[in-house]
Amino acid sequence: MPAVLEAVLIGLLTSQFAFVVTTVYLHRALAHRAITLKPPIAFACRVVIWIATGTRPRQWVAVHRKHHAYTDKEGDPHSPVVFGYPLVQFGNAILYRKVARNPVAVSRYARDLPGDRWDKVLFDHALLGLGIGVAILVAVLGWEMALIAATVHASLYLLGGGAINAIGHKWGKRPHDNLATNNQWLAWCVAGEGLHNNHHAATTSGRLSMAKGEFDPGWWAVRVLVLLRWATVRHDKPVRKPARV
Ligand SMILES: [Zn+2]
Ligand SMILES: [Zn+2]
Repeated sequence: MPAVLEAVLIGLLTSQFAFVVTTVYLHRALAHRAITLKPPIAFACRVVIWIATGTRPRQWVAVHRKHHAYTDKEGDPHSPVVFGYPLVQFGNAILYRKVARNPVAVSRYARDLPGDRWDKVLFDHALLGLGIGVAILVAVLGWEMALIAATVHASLYLLGGGAINAIGHKWGKRPHDNLATNNQWLAWCVAGEGLHNNHHAATTSGRLSMAKGEFDPGWWAVRVLVLLRWATVRHDKPVRKPARV
């Protein structure tokens, strides 16, 4: 396989892996307590998130919980209804940062996740984590190919996150009575998170797929962790709300 294609593929796989860890660890485990990970697995996820995305978990959780508290109203950190589709799709990171860098919001919405000594030494230093991630790519692929792989990964991860927040509150099916939408094609790209209407209908469900024909790859990852006894699930049979008419 040509080296460039190989680098693109590695970038693609890295972003997929980051989406799986984001949905399993940041979203389902930390933000909603829908699943519980064994401490060594949670720590491994924390390391992956640090070197693959530079995200600080308690900030991500705070931004996300604020989104659920103010969905598509003033106060929602990244609603396409409030900010318009293009800004949320392509400027999601800028909107995210506004709340993530607000210590009052973070301590209010993520008070169960106070920073610890690991955060002080390692995980609060986003550039160090990303630097380690890039260094690993350079060691494996060399400078030029590492740059391609890192660019593909960063672009897909940022666009995918933007799409969940923007497309997932604008276009798609609304089987449940909330403003979010289901898009199976997006769910295939972002480890199940495209089933966003289902998620808003049942935030504490470990599984995002509910109906026939819906597939949640993030749930498959959770199932593997459960089989290995590395995770437990709060429930996977979401309470259904009546369909929007
Ligand atoms: Zn949402
Ligand atoms: Zn959520």
